[in-house]
Amino acid sequence: MDTDLAALLAVQVEDVAIHGVEAKLAELEPRIRDLDTRRQKALDAVERAAAGVAAEEKKQAYVREKIAEHKQLIERNQAQMDAVKTMKQATAAVAQMEQAKRIVATEESDLLAINRRLEEARGVLHGLQNELAAIEAEQETARGEVASQRATLDGELAVLREQRNAAAAKVPAALLARYDRIRGKRRVEAVFAMSGMSCGNCDTAIPMQRRHVMSATGAVELCEACGVLMYFPG
Ligand SMILES: [Zn+2]
Repeated sequence: MDTDLAALLAVQVEDVAIHGVEAKLAELEPRIRDLDTRRQKALDAVERAAAGVAAEEKKQAYVREKIAEHKQLIERNQAQMDAVKTMKQATAAVAQMEQAKRIVATEESDLLAINRRLEEARGVLHGLQNELAAIEAEQETARGEVASQRATLDGELAVLREQRNAAAAKVPAALLARYDRIRGKRRVEAVFAMSGMSCGNCDTAIPMQRRHVMSATGAVELCEACGVLMYFPG
């Protein structure tokens, strides 16, 4: 066999092996995606629940602040009661205080409702956090497996790529460029031995004259039907 052709076929051996490892790496992707999707769902639920808790806490702080303000107002009104001179002033001050007390009563009942909702929301959040933790614990083994498989494949790929580079260095640049161009079109293999009188890839018959030249010169030729490189075996 022609040495250039032998060198090219050695490159192809590495490329086919690289393709196989890349396909295995690609197979890991859906597994990782499944794990991620499940975790993300749980994480989203936790985040939504946490946002709900934060909103209730904000309301709680606001209402508490208002209650404190209005209680201070009542105290001030009470202090002012001592200073009133007339019945009219006293009636007005009492009315003002009563109103403030009603407001505080409403706010306190609001606060109770908020507290109840907050307790519920915290309970839900806690449950979801537990679920997330359970999913993460459950996924630890699976993720470890995927990571170690990926590391192994990455290691294999690095070795194969080095071998490929070394093999490619032995192929004439023009022939390698031709091969790379053909392989670039999503082909796993670009060079095929002829099968009898036909292209080894697409089985299109090659004219006798051309076949004769290929067998005599060892030339690597393009199959016009399917676009791969062909060589005469043996
Ligand atoms: Zn062909």
